[in-house]
Amino acid sequence: MRLFRRSADPSGGESTQSSSAGARCDELGTIGVDANDDPAPRDRPDVCEECTQLGEHHWSHLRMCLTCGHIGCCDSSPRRHATEHFEETGHPVMRSAEPGEVWRWCYVHEFMG
Ligand SMILES: [Zn+2]
Ligand SMILES: [Zn+2]
Ligand SMILES: [Zn+2]
Repeated sequence: MRLFRRSADPSGGESTQSSSAGARCDELGTIGVDANDDPAPRDRPDVCEECTQLGEHHWSHLRMCLTCGHIGCCDSSPRRHATEHFEETGHPVMRSAEPGEVWRWCYVHEFMG
């Protein structure tokens, strides 16, 4: 009599167990999922308006707030207006405003998606 016990199939079963590793980001599941729903950029999408008002013309990259369309410069820039916008408004998700870049970033969970 032979007993085959296939408790662990390395080829991968249909386990629905979810490994609860790490925090989930609700914002990235709801904001900016469909790029067609993104707000129109509030300002010119190719400059950081706050930098130009300060007479600062050197920034690294631009980010757009997906709540209100604010354009701000990234953390590699001297003024970091995108992060400042989050700290002032609590708008959690921005995306890259650079041509060809489509990633999003949640400030709350520091989560990219
Ligand atoms: Zn989040
Ligand atoms: Zn700026
Ligand atoms: Zn905003």
